[in-house]
Amino acid sequence: MRVVILGAGGHGLSLAYHLVKKGINDISMVEAKRINYGSSGRNAGRYRYHFYTKENVEFAKEGIPYLLKLCKDLPLNPLCMKTGYLWILDDEKSKDVISRAHSLWSSEGVGGKFLPCNDFDFLKIEEECYLAPQDGSFHHDYLSLGMYEAIKDHVKVIIGEAMRLKVSGGKIVGVEVNGSIIPADVVAVTLGAWTGHFMKRNGIEVPVEPEKKEIFVTEDLKFRVKPLTISKRIYFSHTLKGEIIGGVEDEVPRGFGELDISVERSLSFTRTLRSLVKGAEGIRILRGWSGYYEMTPDHSHIMGFSDSWPDGLYVDAGYSGHGMMFSPYSGKIMADLIADGVKNKFTKIFSPQRFEENKLIDERMVI
Ligand SMILES: Cc1cc2nc3c(=O)[nH]c(=O)nc-3n(C[C@H](O)[C@H](O)[C@H](O)COP(=O)(O)OP(=O)(O)OC[C@H]3O[C@@H](n4cnc5c(N)ncnc54)[C@H](O)[C@@H]3O)c2cc1C
Repeated sequence: MRVVILGAGGHGLSLAYHLVKKGINDISMVEAKRINYGSSGRNAGRYRYHFYTKENVEFAKEGIPYLLKLCKDLPLNPLCMKTGYLWILDDEKSKDVISRAHSLWSSEGVGGKFLPCNDFDFLKIEEECYLAPQDGSFHHDYLSLGMYEAIKDHVKVIIGEAMRLKVSGGKIVGVEVNGSIIPADVVAVTLGAWTGHFMKRNGIEVPVEPEKKEIFVTEDLKFRVKPLTISKRIYFSHTLKGEIIGGVEDEVPRGFGELDISVERSLSFTRTLRSLVKGAEGIRILRGWSGYYEMTPDHSHIMGFSDSWPDGLYVDAGYSGHGMMFSPYSGKIMADLIADGVKNKFTKIFSPQRFEENKLIDERMVI
């Protein structure tokens, strides 16, 4: 089987990793820029079980233990750590969303606790908080590059932009890159935020759109903010080195643009951080970066294939800002599907066909 994987981020690398483990030995990865150039090298490296929909909680209940296991197996250490997530319930919307979600989480065995925020010695506010102790952090680069390191002698990496799918008799036969056709029996599209754009160019509608997000890292402050803390305006946590890392919670118009950072958002981040965290009164930004969330209409991912597509074409994308944590598990599901024809229950739930069938998964917890 000749497999061509488009995009060398966490999802493409995980698919390649799992295909190599199955003994598939003709795998090419096509990457427009460099390995880990996209969101997989630009995220906050946090994992959680806590989603708004049952489907995503159940996916996380399989996917997070799988991530934690892989952390121990890779040749690089992704530093997986249980830190918790802490929601500051500072408006009616967050109170409502968390109260509804709490009963689902409890029934799924991942319930958290409502507590006064001043139980946490790093916070200087009087609101109510919600702690989900099961969640945590990892290092996104070591996760992607650890998967790459494990398989680099078994895959061919082609640097170039994938342009056109080549189809004959209703089947995938190749893909055009750098003006040549790479022959393929299977093309797997793991292009993150670029997925919708690539598929549209090939006459196929897959609703994934980019939404630019910025992350800031402050100068060092003694390590105290263990959980990822989420307020209505910002989210933040500590890095192991002692910096505070986080971003602003705001809606940004969708679309591609410059991957830069803005002075306004960096100021908004530090202002809010200073008002919430003890000892952070004069804290400043040390560095920052931006990347794309890969948004779908229901903020849930798309995996598998559609009956209306050419045979041999697969997609795994659209994680809407929470895809790094799921890259190990989704790569396994996709490899089982592609190599062995095994349809995991999640390939039905998160199928690309759900948009035509109006079976949306209304995920409201995009952080
Ligand atoms: C600021 C920010 C914070 C985030 N925080 C978290 C978090 O805490 N936890 C979490 O789980 N997730 C988080 N995410 C989301 C996570 O980063 C993504 O869901 C995940 O990295 C998507 O991985 P991917 O492999 O699908 O896509 P990507 O990593 O984006 O990879 C796609 C690749 O395709 C390449 N490409 C594009 N077009 C072409 C083409 N035509 N031909 C060839 N190659 C092409 C790109 O160069 C890129 O390398 C965050 C994202 C951002 C931006």
